[in-house]
Amino acid sequence: MQRFASACLIALGIFACTESAARASTLTSGQVTNQRAAMHTSAVNDIQTSNTAPHYTIVGTVNPTTRTLSATQTLVYTNRTASTLTSIGMRLYANLTDVGGLTTVNNVRVNGTAATPSYGPQRFFLSIPLATPLAAGKSVSIQMGFTTTAPTNTDTNLFGTMVSDGTTLSLPYAYPMVAFLRGGVWDTAIPDSKGDIVTNEMSLYDVRLTGPLTGYTFVSTGSTTTTIKTRDTQTVQIYSGLQRDFAFALTKLSKKSQTVSGTTINVYGPASRAAVTTSALAAAVAALPIFNTTIGQYPYKELDIISVDAGDFWGIEFPGFVLIEQDQYTNNPNFEPLIVHEVGHQWFYNIIGNDVQRDAFVDEGLTNYTELIYHQARKRPTDAAGTISYWKEDLAALRAAGNDDIVDQPMSTMTDDQYSTLVYSKAALYIHAVRLQIGEKAFFTALKNYFTASKYRIVDGTAFRSAAETACKCSLTTLYTKWILQE
Ligand SMILES: [Zn+2]
Repeated sequence: MQRFASACLIALGIFACTESAARASTLTSGQVTNQRAAMHTSAVNDIQTSNTAPHYTIVGTVNPTTRTLSATQTLVYTNRTASTLTSIGMRLYANLTDVGGLTTVNNVRVNGTAATPSYGPQRFFLSIPLATPLAAGKSVSIQMGFTTTAPTNTDTNLFGTMVSDGTTLSLPYAYPMVAFLRGGVWDTAIPDSKGDIVTNEMSLYDVRLTGPLTGYTFVSTGSTTTTIKTRDTQTVQIYSGLQRDFAFALTKLSKKSQTVSGTTINVYGPASRAAVTTSALAAAVAALPIFNTTIGQYPYKELDIISVDAGDFWGIEFPGFVLIEQDQYTNNPNFEPLIVHEVGHQWFYNIIGNDVQRDAFVDEGLTNYTELIYHQARKRPTDAAGTISYWKEDLAALRAAGNDDIVDQPMSTMTDDQYSTLVYSKAALYIHAVRLQIGEKAFFTALKNYFTASKYRIVDGTAFRSAAETACKCSLTTLYTKWILQE
């Protein structure tokens, strides 16, 4: 993401329950077919090889006037750890004080039997007890009803991603999301909101949403396969493919689209800023094939970019869905790098995942670096040099203030200034130092090797280092220690 607070130049229910037993751990053939619809033609077979990913079925109604999503959800969850689980942890992101919305759940059932969940601080973490412990390799079906309400855009102290600005109702992580299992233990911590807040395993989403017919468009992670219209409503059927989260919006904004390398990019902006929408589309259309070639093929059919008047962040990535703050939605000098940055996150954050709270540098460093790759691929040496100079100046300023620190540390132990410089600039300079040490050929081989080895996984900083070491047939331990593990 890119935030205001950062000093970056580029900145910078109700339902019928019929299940009574544990489900098989594989998807039905129909579910596989449905999910393949969201994948790029080169990646459709990835669904079958990831058939134990959490599978969500969400059916809901969206009301832009009350800013609500009311839905039922069925999560089929397979225990992919080696241990037996006695509970399923879930997260209600809207309830975080920093997000400022509200999610209430009702009628929680485990394999069809009523269960009584308990809540953690801020009613963020929801623990659902399992009367029958879930052994390794076994699956369970968790059903519930929920209603999520987004805040308005009047409180600019909020995280700003879940928001209604009167034109767009943005509802990322609006559903009860299975919690992150770190080392076999549910992560119950309240996320620090100076950066990204969702670490998640790749999941599959089957989402059916109903909203008003006139004036509004649904925009989301994944692809809409069918739209059914009545006199007053529209219902969209969405399949996500393998994604780390599901985000959507209901918007009155205007759309411009272009298909490049088998992926359709849609940009939504105010009709009064059509030229900006054209610029955003041009930048994304240029960036996507550059990253396809230098990193690896974008595995989805669609990527959506949408402006929103939230008053906080500059831009933030969600899987296949990017939010750009409306204040930044101008043709200012930082706009193109901002678009490129958020497109780059689709590779580093979504396709290759990391623990964003503990290892934020893993995605932000490489994502920042995609801006340099973009400028160089477009043969813009002045912009490329300026990007590197900015990283150096940013780090020099932090050092001059006596605040340089270790890159590989949790977001929560850094100050805002340290976070924006260490995680973005210093981590990008580390990537550049690797490139300078191992040379162009090995570096770009390393990027491709990293993509192939880490695609759909959650990795830490050693994964890219290993890919680079394999490419150069050399050790990068000293370099890694200097840039990432030491001040
Ligand atoms: Zn970012």
